[in-house]
Amino acid sequence: MITATSVIEGKEKRGGGNQKRVVDPSNITKTVGNIAFSSKDIVNEAAESARNAQQVWAAKTGAERSQLLYKLAEEINNHAEELAVVASQEMGKPITEMKGEIQRAVQLFKYYAAEGVRPDGETIPSSAPNVLQYAKRVPLGVVTLITPWNFPVAIPVWKIAPALICGNTVIWKPAENASLTASKMMKIFEKAGLPDGVINVIIGKGRDVGQQLMEEAAIDGLSFTGSTEVGKKVAETCSRRNIKCQTEMGGKNPAIVLKDADLSKTAGTIVSGAFRSAGQKCTATSRVIVETEIVEELKKALIEEMKNVKVAPACDPEAFTGPVASEEQYNKVKKYAAMAHKDGNIVVEGALPEEDGYYIPPLIVENIDTNHALWKEETFGPIITLVTASNVEEAVQLCNDTIYGLSASIFTNSVSNAHYFLENAKAGMVRVNQETAGVEYQAPFGGMKSSSSHTREQGQAALDFYSETKTCAINY
Ligand code: NAP
Repeated sequence: MITATSVIEGKEKRGGGNQKRVVDPSNITKTVGNIAFSSKDIVNEAAESARNAQQVWAAKTGAERSQLLYKLAEEINNHAEELAVVASQEMGKPITEMKGEIQRAVQLFKYYAAEGVRPDGETIPSSAPNVLQYAKRVPLGVVTLITPWNFPVAIPVWKIAPALICGNTVIWKPAENASLTASKMMKIFEKAGLPDGVINVIIGKGRDVGQQLMEEAAIDGLSFTGSTEVGKKVAETCSRRNIKCQTEMGGKNPAIVLKDADLSKTAGTIVSGAFRSAGQKCTATSRVIVETEIVEELKKALIEEMKNVKVAPACDPEAFTGPVASEEQYNKVKKYAAMAHKDGNIVVEGALPEEDGYYIPPLIVENIDTNHALWKEETFGPIITLVTASNVEEAVQLCNDTIYGLSASIFTNSVSNAHYFLENAKAGMVRVNQETAGVEYQAPFGGMKSSSSHTREQGQAALDFYSETKTCAINY
C-alpha cells in the first residue's frame, strides 16, 4: 500500500502535518493508501531545492532535456498498468479510461521531447550595420504547478513536460485526492533518471500549503488547474506578486442539437461526453439545448443510449462510468441530483451497482428554468439539464448564457449552422458533431470568460507560457 509523501531534492519528506487513510471510492470499506501531509514549512525547502537545481537544468542542451523527456515517456508507458490501478483506486476513474489518460501523458512527454531539438527563436534584421539581432526563448525559472484530481496523470504531465523542456524546474502541488497517484508518478520519474530537485512534490492541503506556495514561495511562474473559485484567488495573488500566472478553471459546457442532426450518432456522443468519468471532466457536457421540433425524438434516443451506461466499480473493465471521486464530491453532486428531482422532470436516470461506494446514477432533467442552479452552476457530476430553443440563434444565445466559456458542441449537418455556431459561441474549444470533451494533446486547450486566464495549455501555446522572450543584439 502506498503512503503519499512530499519529495524534495529527490528525498521523501514525511510529516509535519496530519495523516489520512485513503478509501477506494468504488468500495469505501477498502483502504488503498495513506497520505502523510506536509506542513507549511515544506514550501521554502521546495523552493530552495528547485532554485538550486534550475541553473544546472537550464544549462543542459535542448537535446539533453529532450532525452530525459523521452525516458519519462518510456517509464510511464512501462508502468502504465500499475499507475492506472493506483489512480483508479484513488479517485474512481474506470481503469480503461485511466489507461487512455496515461497514454495521453506518454504522448505529451514525447511531443515536448521533440520540442527540445526543434529550431526556435528568430533572427530580426537590424537597421544598423554589423549588428546581429535575434530573439530566443529563456526559461521562467522555478514554476509552481497546482493540479486537480480529475485527470491525475495527464494534467500534471501537460504542465510538467513543457515546463521542463523550456528549462524550468518545478514545485508540484497535486490535489489531495490525487496524492497517491502523484507519489507513484514520482517513483516512476525517479526510475527514468530525473535529476534531484528538478521536480519537487508537495503533499499537503491546498488551503494550507497551496495557499502558502502562491503567497510566499520564491517562484517565477504558476500554472493552476481547478475550480473557478480557487483559480480567481490564485490569479489575484499572482498579479499582486507580479508572478506570471495561468489559471484553467471550471465549465458548464453545452451541446446544441439541431433538427438536421443525425440523432442516431448524436445521442451516443452526448451520453459519452456527459457521463464518462461520472461527469467529472472540466469539458463534460452538462447542458443540452435542442431544437423544439425534435425534443421528443432526442429524448427517446437518449433514453435508448442510457441502456449502455453501466455504472460499476472502477476496476470493472466494462464500466461505462464509475463512482465520483470522494465523499465531498458525493455530497455535492447528490445535492444537485436532489434539486433535479424536486424542481424538474427526470427524463431518464441510470441504475446503481451493489457496492458500497460513492455512486451517483447519471440523470437527464428537463423543465428547469435558466435561472436555476442546475443551469448556472458547474455540478461536476453525471447530470444533464435539457432545454429547448426555437432556432440556431436562440440555441447559441442559450449556449452563451453562462459565466463559463470552456467548450461547446453543436450537432448539425448544415455547414451554415455549424459556421454560425463556430463564429458566435463564446468558448475556447468549439466542436461540430463531437463531444464537448476530447480535445487532442497537440491542440491548444483552454477557455474564455471565467473558465481561463486566456492563456492556453498543450501544443505550442504551452511553450509560450513556460518561457520568456529575450531579444539579443551583437555589434560585431
Ligand atoms: P480545486 O478545489 O479548485 O483544487 C484544485 C487544486 O488547488 C488542488 O490541488 C487543491 O488542493 C488546490 N487548492 C485548493 N485551495 C487552494 C488555495 N486556497 N490555494 C492554493 N491551492 C489551493 O479543484 P478540484 O476539485 O481539484 O478540481 C475540480 C475543478 O477543476 C472543476 O471546477 C473543474 O472544472 C476544474 N478543472 C478544469 C480544467 C481545465 O483545464 N479548465 C481541467 C480539469 C479540472 P487540495 O486538493 O489539497 O485542496
